[in-house]
Parts: sequence; structure tokens; C-alpha cells
Amino acid sequence: MAESLRTHLIEELTDLLDAENQLTKALPKMAASSSTPTLKTAFQKHLQETRGQITRLETALRQLGEEPRRKTCEAMKGLITEGDEMMSNTPEGALRDAVMITAAQKVEHYEMATYGTARTYAQVLGERGVARLLAQTLKEEKAADAKLTTIAERSVNEEAAQEWSSQEEGLIERSTAWMGATMEATSKQLASGARRAGAMVGLAQDSPKPRTTRRSTTAARTRKSSRKTSNRRS
Ligand code: FE
Ligand code: ZN
Ligand code: FE
Repeated sequence: MAESLRTHLIEELTDLLDAENQLTKALPKMAASSSTPTLKTAFQKHLQETRGQITRLETALRQLGEEPRRKTCEAMKGLITEGDEMMSNTPEGALRDAVMITAAQKVEHYEMATYGTARTYAQVLGERGVARLLAQTLKEEKAADAKLTTIAERSVNEEAAQEWSSQEEGLIERSTAWMGATMEATSKQLASGARRAGAMVGLAQDSPKPRTTRRSTTAARTRKSSRKTSNRRS
């Protein structure tokens, strides 16, 4: 078992090595396309980190007795292609920044999933040095993801919404009115739902406990018998 888990770990690290190599080509383009200075800086900083992550992966593979080899990470290829398409379909500005943050966070989450599981496998296999290297990178990927969230919350999403609303003012007004009406209806439903739920567990004054219990037992019996019927049919 350990032997096949070891092979799997080597495969994942080889996959990550190509994923990171692909990113060293994508990140400069994303930095160049950023309108928000903090976003541009974040992409540039993560490019530097990515180069260090490649070195860590090569070190980890050699510690496992493997010579690093090339293998295409199809998932990263797909994420980058999809992000590229979205970017080129959006004019430069806050909205394109938001599109790039979406694409970049998908990438970070893919990396977090892979580094996280790979680190666990290294731990299970007793490869503490490899586990430590992977944990360092995982920390950087999480920090990059958190940074993107902060940038999105602080500036990009607001500006993108403004750009959009200046084009679609009327639509926003209408949808706001609709949301208001919907929320009012929803809160009414929730209130009556809560009252009903209270009655079911015997909390409401107008619903004595024994009656509720008897009713739900009958309901359970009905459900059971209908299940029997459907079983017979199938
Ligand atoms: Fe990375
Ligand atoms: Zn992959
Ligand atoms: Fe990353």
C-alpha cells in the first residue's frame, strides 16, 4: 500500500511541477493586464514565490529518489485557457481585474487541494522533509488566495459594480425593487415556517405534545407502507 501511495505522491508532485511552470508564463501576463496597482503587485509577488515553489518541488522529488520529469498538468492548462478566454472578452479596467481574480483564485484553490493532499501523503509515508517543503508552499498559496480576496473586497468588486451599474442603471433599480419584494415575502414565509416548526415540536401553546407525536407516527407508518408497495413493484 505504501509503495503505491508513494507512486501517487510522485505523480502529484510531477503534476504540480508542470502546473507551476505554466503559471510562471501566465502570471506576468496577468500582472501586465491589471489596472489595480495592488493586484499587479500581488501577481508579481506570487510569480517570485512560484519560482521558489518550483525549486521546492524539484528538491522534494529528488528526496524521494526521483529525477524531475515533464508531464502536462491538464487541469492547470484548462484553468489558464478558460481564464485567458474570459480576460480577452472583457475590456481593460476594474471588471477585467475582477475576472482575473476569479481565474487566479480558481488556480490557488487547485494548488491548495493538491499541495494539501500531497503533504498529507508525505506525512503518512514518513517523508518529513518532503512534507515540510509542501507545507511551506501550501502556506504561500493560502496567503495568495487570501490576498486576492482582500483586493476583491476592498476595491475591484466595488469598481466593477460601478462600471456595470453606469451602463445598466435601470436594470439595477428594477432588480433592487424585486429583491426587496422577494425578501419581504421570504421573511413572512420564514416566520410562518418557524411557527409551524414550533408547533411540530410541541412548543406552541395551541398544539399539545401527544397529538403531534401521534400524527407523526401515523405519517411514518404511511411512509413505510408506501415504501413496501414501491419495493414490490420494482
Ligand atoms: Fe504555486
Ligand atoms: Zn494537474
Ligand atoms: Fe499559487
